[in-house]
Amino acid sequence: MAETPTSSSLDVKIGELLAVLKSLPRPRARTNLQIRLRPFLLRYTSHLTVIGLVVLVLSLGGIQLPRADSPQLLPPTAAPSLGNRTYAPLTDRGSLLPAERSTLVRFPVPHTTIPDRLRRGVITYTVQPGDTVSGIAAQFGLRWTTIMWSNEHLEDNPDLLLPGQILNILPIDGAYHRVCDNDTLAKIAKTYDVKVADITGCPFNNVQSDADLRVGYHLVVPGGRKPYVPVVFRPTYTGPFPADAPRGSGQFIWPTQGRLTDLFGWTGTRWHTGIDIANSKGTHVFAADRGYVRQAGWTKMGYGVLIIIDHGNGYWTYYGHLSAVWVRAGQYVEKGQWIGNIGSTGRSTGPHLHFEVRRNREPVNPMDLLPPR
Ligand SMILES: [Zn+2]
Repeated sequence: MAETPTSSSLDVKIGELLAVLKSLPRPRARTNLQIRLRPFLLRYTSHLTVIGLVVLVLSLGGIQLPRADSPQLLPPTAAPSLGNRTYAPLTDRGSLLPAERSTLVRFPVPHTTIPDRLRRGVITYTVQPGDTVSGIAAQFGLRWTTIMWSNEHLEDNPDLLLPGQILNILPIDGAYHRVCDNDTLAKIAKTYDVKVADITGCPFNNVQSDADLRVGYHLVVPGGRKPYVPVVFRPTYTGPFPADAPRGSGQFIWPTQGRLTDLFGWTGTRWHTGIDIANSKGTHVFAADRGYVRQAGWTKMGYGVLIIIDHGNGYWTYYGHLSAVWVRAGQYVEKGQWIGNIGSTGRSTGPHLHFEVRRNREPVNPMDLLPPR
């Protein structure tokens, strides 16, 4: 393809040509008609000349204007799917009042940009491998607490998202309350630190008074927040290795795929207790041998989200900086079982797995125990 002149060089060429035009000699004698027509003729001829010159410059310069069938123009592609979403049936959220059944209510839509667009109801989302609560929240433009407070089972353990899990996604930030026995609007409002009018005035609820409440209905509580309740979260199993559980074979497999970025031992600046395997966030991490999960979750030790497996034969393996954990402390895992995903949590500069092997509590070089790659 020929070199395309810049717009400024085009301007210069046109300017030069116009200067030449102005310097051309003009006819002396003019009839009355010519004098009256002159401004028109001058205007149109100069316009036509400029257009003609542009066409000339374009054709001489070999400039190709984009055509509709140009192969450089990519066909439109579909946006990536966010997963399976379905609208929750209205009966889950309360019955329609008779008066509202025959009227269409148009809700105000304050924004037209898609992330801010008011969704018309509660939708569901199927958890995909590698998802995190905060990641899902960001996809829908919500706070992560909204995801927590609209899915009861998540409140106990936000780290444990399982692929295939169905989550409620609210149209706005707040909480999703399931009406229980003896619930009143005042009681619900107090629980979530909002006013009764916030609940009755919410367009996603069809509740005006306590008489409209039915056990099992779900109410959207706009701006609702749940008081912090310390949950009994046990990321660690401290009990003995179960006598009947199979012990590790002592033959390890590679826990993940990727590039070896740091080896065991003195790295020049620090003593490294394991090996680092770099790969993109979400890459699967597997148990290097069968055993019992001692730790599965966040730790302050610099490992970030960490899994520790006790293989019952003196060996423990550590899997650090994970972005997701698919096992619980106190659980038996098979060799090669998918236990988590690579991440960058804790003291980490990029997504990688810190893999560590300890024999009788002392870190040893994993390269001596892993099969050749
Ligand atoms: Zn490391």
